[in-house]
Amino acid sequence: MNRLPLIMVCTNDIAGQVRGKGFPAHALEGHLKKGVGWTPTNTMITCFGQIVSTPFGPRNDLMLIPDPATEVFVDFGDEGPAEHFFLGDIVQTDAKTPWDLCLRSFLKSALADLEREAGLRLVAAFEHEFIYFGQQPRLGDSYGLEGVRLAGAFPEALLHALDAGGVQPETFLPEYGPGQFEVTVEPAGALQAADRAVALRELTRATAYRLGHRVSFAPIVDRKSVGNGVHIHFSLTDTDGRPASHDPAHAYGFSQKAGQFVAGVLRHMPALCAVTAPSVLSYERLVPNKWSASYNNLGYRDREAGVRICPIWEVEGADASRQYNFEYRAADAAASPYLALGMLVRAGLQGLRDELPEPEPTTQDPTTLPPDEVARRGTVRLPQTLDAALQALEEDATASGWMPADLLLAYTMHKRGEISLVRDLAADEMAARYSQAY
Ligand code: GLU
Ligand code: MG
Repeated sequence: MNRLPLIMVCTNDIAGQVRGKGFPAHALEGHLKKGVGWTPTNTMITCFGQIVSTPFGPRNDLMLIPDPATEVFVDFGDEGPAEHFFLGDIVQTDAKTPWDLCLRSFLKSALADLEREAGLRLVAAFEHEFIYFGQQPRLGDSYGLEGVRLAGAFPEALLHALDAGGVQPETFLPEYGPGQFEVTVEPAGALQAADRAVALRELTRATAYRLGHRVSFAPIVDRKSVGNGVHIHFSLTDTDGRPASHDPAHAYGFSQKAGQFVAGVLRHMPALCAVTAPSVLSYERLVPNKWSASYNNLGYRDREAGVRICPIWEVEGADASRQYNFEYRAADAAASPYLALGMLVRAGLQGLRDELPEPEPTTQDPTTLPPDEVARRGTVRLPQTLDAALQALEEDATASGWMPADLLLAYTMHKRGEISLVRDLAADEMAARYSQAY
């Protein structure tokens, strides 16, 4: 059958979903300028495909303009059509004014303020876990070589797709849960890192689909097993790209600026959860003993901390200050990488503005600390439901003020609509719906 190649221009929205419009590849030049038309209410489509309510109704128009730097082209050979898409920014019909609810523009403006006010840039990498359904896991093959073998062509086909798609895969590993895998990618400037996170999820789905299977990035797929986290690694540089997070003289290795930045993230972390762990199901993952995050603590090499100080590999010739980074653990793939990272940057910048005292890292479970010590450090349990997280966002006047008012309104309306769609479902049914949606 003859085919005319198709190119899609996409956005990643409040539901963390990638949606867009396409055109024949030969029309690319024109569409690089004029993009594709977009509708405000599209951002109110929940992850389940229903619009529960919308502040926009059927009115008004927007443009979704591709950013040429985001082009992803992956040839899957005999396994089916190539994957060709761009990510873009949503602007008004003047083709330039960013729409308040464009999440990619939200991240860009947070990064611009970080640079302007503090002379700093953020380097980031999103680490993803997911379940691949195209194999029958062998009992006990957690982290197993057999787990990779049983996945057949998938691991190498995925590495090819990520490499060809400019995502720069770093490692691929069988994770703890049955059929669970993890992919890490090379760090990049924050906007590019978020673009890569969006592309990574799509290319993982695309690869599985070409092999006749599917994956799920849902925060929990099997309620009896571990969750799928998205760990957001981040560090600071100056505007010349010189690392600015590391201070070898400090007991835990972080610079004063990094201490203030992380203190801002921790202080506002309950509110951040509303955008980083943004599904009802997310809160089944954010519980103690699931190796995720349940407190807003800074943990030294602790995989249950809200933010973890990652290790430095002291091999000869390796630059410690370039390796030094933090990992925000209370995120999952129901979140838009743009909004999650944008709010993280806003929180960090607030910590710099307020010159917050440096956080005291924990090396143990915060629940084992005396209560007055917990209170002194400002350590709190993270919200335990999406409802509570949305309330934490609304009650944190500083954090909710980082969002344009119409974004905050649409976001909370969207998420409360999503809650209403699963409220009456049994827990297993709710998890099953989310695992189909993500
Ligand atoms: N699966 C865990 C999570 O939900 C993370 C395990 C790990 O430390 O890689 O975040
Ligand atoms: Mg992992």
